[in-house]
Amino acid sequence: MKEVDIKKREFFKAVGGISVLSLLTSCEADVYSLPEKKPPVPGAEKWYEGEEKYIKSVCGQCPVNCGIIVRVVEGRAVKIMGNPAASPNRGVLGPKGNSGIMTLYDPDRIKHPLKRVGKRGEGKWEKISWDEAIKIVAQKLKEKVEKGESRKIAILCGRPKGFTRELFERFADVLGTPNFYDFFEKSYSPRPILEAMREAFGVWDLPGFDSQKTQYILSLGSAMFESTCHGIRFARAVYEIRYRYPARRGKIVQVDPFLSATGSQADEWIPIKPGKYDVFALGIANVLISENMYDRDFVEKKTEGFERFGEIAREYTPERVEKETGVPAHDIVRIAREMWNSRPSISLVDERSTSTTNGLHIACLSLCLNALLGSINSPGGLVLRPPIKFSNWKDVKRKTKERKIPFADLPDSDVDTFLFYYMNPVYSEPAGERWAKLLEKADFVVSFSPFEDETSLFADIILPDHTYLERFEDAQSFSSIPFAGFGIRKPVVYPLYDTKNTGDTIILIAKEMGFEDEFYWEDFEEAVKERLKNFDIDEVEEKGWWEDPEKKWADFDKFRFCSHLPPHEPEWKGDGLYLLPYKSTTYGEGSGANIPYLMELSARIKMLPAYMSYETFVEISPELAEKLKLSNFERVYVVSDTGKIKAKVLIKEGVPPDVVLVELGRGHKAFGRFAKGRGANPREIIVPLKSIVGNLALWTTRVKIEKA
Ligand code: SF4
Repeated sequence: MKEVDIKKREFFKAVGGISVLSLLTSCEADVYSLPEKKPPVPGAEKWYEGEEKYIKSVCGQCPVNCGIIVRVVEGRAVKIMGNPAASPNRGVLGPKGNSGIMTLYDPDRIKHPLKRVGKRGEGKWEKISWDEAIKIVAQKLKEKVEKGESRKIAILCGRPKGFTRELFERFADVLGTPNFYDFFEKSYSPRPILEAMREAFGVWDLPGFDSQKTQYILSLGSAMFESTCHGIRFARAVYEIRYRYPARRGKIVQVDPFLSATGSQADEWIPIKPGKYDVFALGIANVLISENMYDRDFVEKKTEGFERFGEIAREYTPERVEKETGVPAHDIVRIAREMWNSRPSISLVDERSTSTTNGLHIACLSLCLNALLGSINSPGGLVLRPPIKFSNWKDVKRKTKERKIPFADLPDSDVDTFLFYYMNPVYSEPAGERWAKLLEKADFVVSFSPFEDETSLFADIILPDHTYLERFEDAQSFSSIPFAGFGIRKPVVYPLYDTKNTGDTIILIAKEMGFEDEFYWEDFEEAVKERLKNFDIDEVEEKGWWEDPEKKWADFDKFRFCSHLPPHEPEWKGDGLYLLPYKSTTYGEGSGANIPYLMELSARIKMLPAYMSYETFVEISPELAEKLKLSNFERVYVVSDTGKIKAKVLIKEGVPPDVVLVELGRGHKAFGRFAKGRGANPREIIVPLKSIVGNLALWTTRVKIEKA
């Protein structure tokens, strides 16, 4: 009873309080809402029959954090729409955002804290209370700290930004472990771009793009219209640059090894050898410099290292670049001239572009092209966003100065205690079996997952998180919006089950361990509000989003031209065909694979019937199919040096004869009834190779195809 009361209080606080008057005035009969035919939802007694509300919040299905408006009828969330006031999406939503209702009402959510009773990985649990679960976790971590083994604790928080991430990092600090990991440690993250930004500008942030004013986009393999953080914004921007000014239509050129969904929507697709975007960018730089088509004023006043960069770029003549990349020299010259003559032009990369071992070179050289074109902090160009002026929490003393173990090396380390929050390395890291082996012999594993995924299967305790439609937190966008902005995510319904906001859970564990001074808030909502002291929270909640009213860009001292030259060859293991796994347009890298709507939509996008939605396809060229005597939908093995997966052949135009494509996201061994046991996971056959920035690259493996 007490728990229910607390939930009600949280909910009412978060939606800004629902007055009796507003309850009465917002009543409107809804023909779809017939309470006597529906089982009650938590808190339904607080809603009048037929009452509906439109509650502003922020999507939490991916790090972009689009603004949303949720239609709630009698306490049930029934529809999610985009919030026009939110800069990442301006009123539109992607398929994953639309599917949030299915995440909320997923029948396979974990409904209360769980304690393992079977062997690790077996999925046998007993239900325990929150009090007991928190005591067990606190006790175990305390023992570790008291034995002087803090560094054997690893905290893995799969968030790129935000106060929940900072709360976990603070927890690592007070525990005295250096081993805190976030979103950017993962294998398919934009870490190379962040590292390139740090080298070029000294900032640890992704670039923003003033894309609405851009006239020419050179995409170096960016999955711009697919499942990427740019997607929602660029789809809109591209509409504007193509159709806003009838006399001047912008152009998009997609340079990519295969005809991707983005390539098919671009004005031009330029095929290239896998991982050679850096050499291609040097070819463009060569033409820009040798034909004197670069922004001299910007280069002289705002950059460093141009001389050395220019010397190396001069060696990459279009003819040489043609030999190395397969892109015809005349196209390189033409594209460079088009970019200069169509300014504002930008060069764009994302996590797919940089998924080879040389991702850092690719990201750096893309930035260099923008510098040459004068497209930095200029209308239509790449821009630096100023940090948002959040208040700080009281400082805590970091208890260790030890260096952390690189994430990719954790499976070979002696770390034996793990806390996982939105990280599922057993499934999502190349050769995830290494993680399974590590967790099998671990001393203690805690998961905060709302679903039983492959990693939480190895947990001793699961402390299930609320879904994003049930919790309160800040929402700092990971999108390429060109100015500072953030939203507030809040509960739109009462929590359906006995779950908790993980921010609250961490505060409770920390207090149980005796860290009351460091975790001094009543709950996470209070901690978030302390950081938002400089903002009118009511106003942010009312609009659903805050953005910098002056829409300013951050200044920078000097842009430093790439020092990683000449570029490295991307590393490939094995011989045979290049295996290029890619994210699904609808269900991402696999985190949406438990939503049948997204899986089936993905099949329809490929022009496949819905009953094939749960199959893994290996997409190959007609030439390769002929050579190997394979036909559509035939079963084959995709074989690497480390293993094999089963897939069905899909013959496609636009795939080079030496490339095979496999969509990521299927092949779950857990993660609910809709995801488990459907298709194959290509990461199982990827040879784990570190990129220059330390995380595992995804495009590393050459494979063979054998008939099954
Ligand atoms: S891009 Fe991400 S945040 Fe935006 S609607 Fe899609 S899933 Fe939600």
